[in-house]
Amino acid sequence: MLRMILSWLAVVIVCGQVPLHASDWQVGVARIDITPAKKIWLAGYASRTKPAEGTTHPLWAKALVFKDERGNRAAIVTTDLIGLTRELSDAVSARVARETGMTRKQILLNSSHTHCSPVVRGCAPLAYDFTSEQQQDVDHYAKVLEEKLVKVIVSASRSLKPAQLSYSEDQASFAMNRRGRINPDGPVDHTVPVLKISDPAGKLQAILFGYACHNTTLAFFEYCGDYAGFAQIELEKQYPGVTALFLLGCGGDANPNPRGTRELAEQHGRSLAAAVTRALAEPLKAVDGPLTVKFQRTDLPFTKPPSREELLARQGQGDVYSQRLTKHLLKQLDQQGTIPDAYPFSAQVIEFGNDLTLIGLGGETVIDYAIRLHEELSPRQIWVAGYCNEVFAYVPSERVLKEGGYEGGGAMKYFGIHGPFQPGVEDRIMKLVHSLLTP
Ligand SMILES: [Zn+2]
Repeated sequence: MLRMILSWLAVVIVCGQVPLHASDWQVGVARIDITPAKKIWLAGYASRTKPAEGTTHPLWAKALVFKDERGNRAAIVTTDLIGLTRELSDAVSARVARETGMTRKQILLNSSHTHCSPVVRGCAPLAYDFTSEQQQDVDHYAKVLEEKLVKVIVSASRSLKPAQLSYSEDQASFAMNRRGRINPDGPVDHTVPVLKISDPAGKLQAILFGYACHNTTLAFFEYCGDYAGFAQIELEKQYPGVTALFLLGCGGDANPNPRGTRELAEQHGRSLAAAVTRALAEPLKAVDGPLTVKFQRTDLPFTKPPSREELLARQGQGDVYSQRLTKHLLKQLDQQGTIPDAYPFSAQVIEFGNDLTLIGLGGETVIDYAIRLHEELSPRQIWVAGYCNEVFAYVPSERVLKEGGYEGGGAMKYFGIHGPFQPGVEDRIMKLVHSLLTP
């Protein structure tokens, strides 16, 4: 007993602080390289003319599995990818459930939305027009990706170790509202949330950090994580042996500014990493359990789908994507007898006791969602992530829906959706999120 007390005291003295509830948490960390073996078509920009030609740095899927002292678990997975589909996330979750017992609601899969990553089958399917060989490559990668995502979560869940969690935030200023290209007066959120995972002695093990901005500094033909990839590399260089994971926020209407070169992507990555380092240097707030997880879908209705007659009259009209959309909708009518008139939008909530609430929204949500949730839930400490579990369309706020434009409905055609959401989209999502929160 005396020896135990002395060793605990030694830890306290060496670290200069009392361990934060060291015995409460167990955390597992894992990573897997998801760079395609072959140079396949890159996602994000519909205007691309050829597949990838090189690799700036590997693309990663990284997983954290949290377990509180009562045995409640949650997994957070980050990926250097354009986005996942509902089908892929659900398939991965079902397989993980069989291997670990963790179910769909316990698994949050986020994508950094880097536009220098391979096409993920089914994500913005009408943005591309593949030859059969290119389609085979995309199909093959989808299979490999599913295997790897399962593997990384299972591996994290099998490497649980005692840990302590703490939270802080800082700021990085390169995100700019992009409505109307560059919109310095538009809403943006420069917050960089940081969750620190340390061992019981206080030694840093992993860093989960976020930012709400498209990973679109670059538009070249190499596999690259863009600013988020460079930020993760910078942090892992600075803290050897530590895993840094990037969680994308509601950056649907934000771009890095300026953009266009590798140097700028590296610069933004460094400034994001510097914000994380500053947050880690500040006194962090301890994050306790218990862990609570919730996951729910709600239908977001679209405007009325066109009739077959309307579609037949539209054939050959508009740009190449509008023409693909007409063809796609006619095919849906032929095969399913109907065009989907809503999307089952998902929201997920992971509560770390009263100390931190992570809200994961599906789709490319604009920043208004994070701003409104912060206002409505203050003083609760929340972290809102977009691009969770599925990237099926842009998700405008009521304001952006009314304004229209690319994020308001203009980009729906790339996702194979006939029209914008019906008014009320923002309130439907807010109601869903509120219903998932512990009062
Ligand atoms: Zn986007």
